Amino acid sequence: MNSAALKIHIKGLVQGVGFRPFIYRLANRFNLKGSVENRNDGVIIFVEGLKNNVDNFLNSIKNEAPPASNINSIASESCSVNNFDEFKIIKSTNKSEEITEISPDIAVCEDCLKDMESQSHRIDYPFINCTNCGPRFTIIQDLPYDRKNTTMKSFPMCEKCRSEYEDVLDRRFHAQPVACNDCGPIYTLTYKNNEITDLKEILNISAKLIEQGKIVAIKGLGGFHLACDAQNEEAVNRLRKAKNRDGKPFAVMFATIEDLKEFTNANDTEIESLLSWKRPILILQEKKKLAKSVSVGFKTLGAMLPYMPFHYLLFEALRLPVIVLTSGNISDEPIIIDNQIAIEELLPVSDAIITYNRDIYNRTDDSLTVVFNNKERLLRRSRGFAPSPVNLNLNVDGILATGAELVNCFCLGKGKQAFLSQHIGDLKNMETLEYYSETIDKFQKLFRIKTSLVVCDLHPDYLSTKYANELNIKTIAVQHHHAHIASCMAEYGLDEKVIGVAFDGIGLGTDNKIWGGEFFICDLFDFERYSHFEYIPMPGGDKATKEPWRMAISYLYKYYGKSFLDLKLPFLENIEEDKIELIISAIEKKINCPETSSAGRLFDSIAALINLCLNSNFHAEAPMRLEAIIDKNCSDEYDLITNNEISVKEIIKGVVDDIINLKSQSEISTKFHNTIISIIFAQVLEISKKYKINKVVLSGGSFQNRYIIERIENLLIKNSFKVYAPCKIPANDGGIALGQLAIAAKRREKDVFKYSGKN
Ligand code: ZN
Ligand code: ZN
Ligand code: FE
Repeated sequence: MNSAALKIHIKGLVQGVGFRPFIYRLANRFNLKGSVENRNDGVIIFVEGLKNNVDNFLNSIKNEAPPASNINSIASESCSVNNFDEFKIIKSTNKSEEITEISPDIAVCEDCLKDMESQSHRIDYPFINCTNCGPRFTIIQDLPYDRKNTTMKSFPMCEKCRSEYEDVLDRRFHAQPVACNDCGPIYTLTYKNNEITDLKEILNISAKLIEQGKIVAIKGLGGFHLACDAQNEEAVNRLRKAKNRDGKPFAVMFATIEDLKEFTNANDTEIESLLSWKRPILILQEKKKLAKSVSVGFKTLGAMLPYMPFHYLLFEALRLPVIVLTSGNISDEPIIIDNQIAIEELLPVSDAIITYNRDIYNRTDDSLTVVFNNKERLLRRSRGFAPSPVNLNLNVDGILATGAELVNCFCLGKGKQAFLSQHIGDLKNMETLEYYSETIDKFQKLFRIKTSLVVCDLHPDYLSTKYANELNIKTIAVQHHHAHIASCMAEYGLDEKVIGVAFDGIGLGTDNKIWGGEFFICDLFDFERYSHFEYIPMPGGDKATKEPWRMAISYLYKYYGKSFLDLKLPFLENIEEDKIELIISAIEKKINCPETSSAGRLFDSIAALINLCLNSNFHAEAPMRLEAIIDKNCSDEYDLITNNEISVKEIIKGVVDDIINLKSQSEISTKFHNTIISIIFAQVLEISKKYKINKVVLSGGSFQNRYIIERIENLLIKNSFKVYAPCKIPANDGGIALGQLAIAAKRREKDVFKYSGKN
């Protein structure tokens, strides 16, 4: 009989996802002897036995790997026969500086939910988990992934748990967070100065409170949440006041998928995403109304399903199908993870707080996704997704990309892998900046990365740029919109010349003006700016992003001069006269009126012109409201004039005429959107003819608009273009760091660090 011996090295996400037990069982199935071992650089397997069995073993690794694992490479080589007398799992060793990947947190699995009803030591145990589910990234402090390197280290296993942990045939074999009612973490409810640790009581009291319209703070996987009845207007309103911030829509959690289907129109792709172990918040079309202030007038709803055992237990006690479950933070600070801080800051604004005694080491927010054209697209990448790497064809080793300013994520390169951080937030306050720099430190330590090159945004005032400059490491600055396009290119492994369409709010251009409606011919190395929206003053600078009416006046003044006041447009009645005068004189005297080509600001101005949204309560509110009123049956549009400055004169004049002729907001918004789609299509056609390029990359925050992305994708595909829009990486500034990283890698490869970026 033919025998064989193999050494197999597997890289990818193979730790903390039940990989070694899987290998063990597989080896036994094929009657093979040998060993499996976790190392920093992956999993090493020795097997020996009949050649046929060894071959089948190797094939089965690929075909049957555990659901949450992700194999990047399997390298196998013949080796000498060691005459093992069994197949065994060897204790982890710390062999090299090259690490393997860290699993994101995984929603509790079906098997564990069943165990919660049947296993005597885990009846209703709210921290139940196994190798296929449970906390991962949020509790990992160091690699390799062993209990002693997690925040579970302070909970010694009881005998029963240990025997399961050591039993290779058990689902909890080497499940690092394994625990039970006798030995694991516990919940505590703080209510009216009482601390209650009996779980039944915690669930009953908090369920009752929520049913009565109260607010309860609950410690989640990656941070605290605030919860209340999503059908109780008064409760939701109180929660809104408690959070003391913007009027952003709140996310909700439904008890079951059936409940979710009753309130929303979820299609199959959306349901698949909602039920995946990543359990994101998904933006859905609302069918049945919840409390009005949940979605603040939008017809969409950010919804998710339970993902912690505790969520399931809570819904069992609760006689409600849906609760608001929004991040536990005040204003725009990071989501709170510390029990004491939560008690100090969240308890005063809620009626009770539920904590537990296991620490959260890595903070994560709920991830946010949406399905456009039947494809899931990430809007906020955090729990369930981070810190999975993006695999590239570029050497990005040792590069730190510090990202932009809003919805920041940073990115670190290791070999050919890009580790994009979880969502950090807007780098506009001390707390977020602290979280940012602390997380960069954690990533460098966790993934063993020594930074030798730093890349940041061109904008000198971003805190991410200042952070970069203070490191005293060679730093290059990358243009914001080039990074947007490069980010999407990196996601799809593109490394060639493409047509880049970057539409967003704002980003500094190489001419020191503010860009945001750009057509590029670019690759990962550099870009040429082919065309852009014509420049327009942005009265008050940053203030204009919060007050869209300023942009409306700027456009009116540009095309009508002061006589726009005679048009008697209704929205102007809502603005004080002297404010209007002030803006006009600021534009005339060019005081704090930077010029911009931003698409976002153009959307803002239309929303203000039609009196839909004059002031913005949260980022991108005006474009979102504009999109929300679209009439899909209207195919009209405004006239176009394009050369290398895309004039919007005819759009503004058309909108003004329509307002005067009492056309509906909905009709005007739709015509405007249709025009934008036509502009993109016309520009892309023109560029592709001139440059013989047929790959089109669409990126930037404006491409989070369902109407635009679905139509332009379909239109371009129908015309034989290859279209790439961000899916796994956010199209917004949360994806910028990946683009910066790719550009920096390309520059380093060519040893040319200077930016040309032809205008
Ligand atoms: Zn499980
Ligand atoms: Zn136990
Ligand atoms: Fe941007």
